[in-house]
Amino acid sequence: MPGVWRHRPIIIGSIVILSLVSLDAGYAAWARGIVRAAPKIAPSKCERSKFKVILDVGHTAEAPGARSARNIPEFDFNLRLAKRIEDRLKSEGFAETSLLVTEGPARPSLFKRAAVINDSKADLVLSIHHDSVPDSFLEEWEFEGAQSHFSDQFSGYSLFVSHDNPKFRTSLRFARLLGKQMKAQGLRYARQYAQPLMGRYRRKLLDKRVGVYRYDQLIVLAQTRVPAVLFEAGSIINRDEEMAMESTERQDMTGAAVVGAVKEFCASR
Ligand SMILES: [Zn+2]
Repeated sequence: MPGVWRHRPIIIGSIVILSLVSLDAGYAAWARGIVRAAPKIAPSKCERSKFKVILDVGHTAEAPGARSARNIPEFDFNLRLAKRIEDRLKSEGFAETSLLVTEGPARPSLFKRAAVINDSKADLVLSIHHDSVPDSFLEEWEFEGAQSHFSDQFSGYSLFVSHDNPKFRTSLRFARLLGKQMKAQGLRYARQYAQPLMGRYRRKLLDKRVGVYRYDQLIVLAQTRVPAVLFEAGSIINRDEEMAMESTERQDMTGAAVVGAVKEFCASR
């Protein structure tokens, strides 16, 4: 707990001042002010230029994940949002931010990305995805002449952490910060993962205020040894939310939330 030790000399010094001027209420109040102010003036350990963030782009061009209500592959959404977040983080001084884009079939790509992440010694990994629903929830519609699928039943972002990751606690801390920032942007998290109707997709809700779920088996979380969070930025099978995810406004809100959370996470280390 280096932070505690850093504050200790200031607190001891203030106690001495307090006992010497105990008859002078004005000085005592001033000294108490120093005790209260101490954490604010302590220098942050966050060096943005050295803080290494990996933005893992979910899925690959060859195995693109979910298909949106308007037949756009999830990978396209993931790549676009990840690039936008990368730009914002870099412009805020997080120069060591990088995109992790993997190629090839789905399952080998997951182990490949875990290996790259472990070699990187990153401070934080955020895996970026867009959500869909189990096949049994899908309804049919026609979009631009093509038979397509949708489900307007659910919407919202969600965050997942794995207990099998050795940095589970730290991962959970970042996930909570990101959830808090998303909430502050006025966005709602996807409630359905905690409900019995999700069957084998049901997850334990770890933070019901901001939408953090436990999902132990996810390879990119479970096989990595650095703080890692999987982020479903929103549902692209929901027809309204897909349109929102296409908008620069929503992408900017999400980008601002990620940047805010990374700043807080870095500063609180
Ligand atoms: Zn995905």
